[in-house]
Amino acid sequence: MILVTGGAGYIGSHTNKALHAAGYDTVVVDNLCKGYENFVKWGFFEDCDFGSGDLREVFKNYDIDGVIHFAAFSSVAESVQMPQKYFKNNYKNTLNLLKIMREFGVDKFILSSTAAVYGNPKQIPITEDSELKPINPYGHSKFITEKALEREAEKGDFNYVSLRYFNAAGCDFDCEIGELHDPETHLIPLVLDAAIGKRDSISIFGDDYDTPDGTCIRDYIHVNDLADAHIKAYEYLCNENESNIFNLGNGEGYSVREVIDMCKKVTGCDFEVKIDERREGDPAVLIADSTKIHEKLGWTPQYDLEQIVESAWKWHEKMNKI
Ligand code: UDP
Repeated sequence: MILVTGGAGYIGSHTNKALHAAGYDTVVVDNLCKGYENFVKWGFFEDCDFGSGDLREVFKNYDIDGVIHFAAFSSVAESVQMPQKYFKNNYKNTLNLLKIMREFGVDKFILSSTAAVYGNPKQIPITEDSELKPINPYGHSKFITEKALEREAEKGDFNYVSLRYFNAAGCDFDCEIGELHDPETHLIPLVLDAAIGKRDSISIFGDDYDTPDGTCIRDYIHVNDLADAHIKAYEYLCNENESNIFNLGNGEGYSVREVIDMCKKVTGCDFEVKIDERREGDPAVLIADSTKIHEKLGWTPQYDLEQIVESAWKWHEKMNKI
């Protein structure tokens, strides 16, 4: 059985669904501070904080072979305001999880990491051996968690894969689960809010970056492609492979303006686009080089930006039906 922490959240719930489709049994641990119980439609569910001693009971009650660890805070802006909250939950609480894994002899671990560990990269596309220089507490909390894992693996009888996500986007094509953050801060759902009329406009955070149209460029990757990578990473560890770190992106960058244009095309809706101040902590360009995971795990992303927006729009329409 696989323990999925944060399996009631966005990427965790999509991965939990994919794990079941691939024939795995899971138990989801989530304290529902960000997640939704009705996103856990597959496997067992335990309402529990992964940073608490109660987690030990879960290890006692289920026969756990490995852990896929999504539970974390992930807002860059909030992390700048509340760094301790991020270091405590994302780093310190993960040490609690690792300690309990050791107690129960569970030796396979997959971490949700992030492109934010690179900070302002010197070279695009970004490979895994690029310099790690996070520029916000969120990225820093994941960076030190990766370091803790590296040390843990050095001690032996423990292997991990760290997956550095670029911009997760899109939703389950069956619309059983989707992206639902409160408050929402991510570009695509906010643009779709404007398309559906929930917001009057969308603001572009800065159009004076050193990019062709002046807006930030990101690498958007469908959440189902991320889910698939977790399964491949888990199987890689089951085959007694050593610990590893992989980027997860499409390898193609889209500017904020291009994303907005794609949303207009897919939805057929027009809305006002405003130019706002730059958002603190935003690098100009983040594009993944995902060659390594392709070569080692045979992972190839299946969905492009248009399919990402189409799936997100379908979910958005469902959630906003009167
Ligand atoms: N962005 C924007 N307006 C918004 C939300 C986001 O211009 O209302 C920009 C943001 O500055 C970044 C890109 O869209 O360049 C993607 O932001 P998001 O928060 O979705 O993901 P992040 O890159 O921060 O992980």
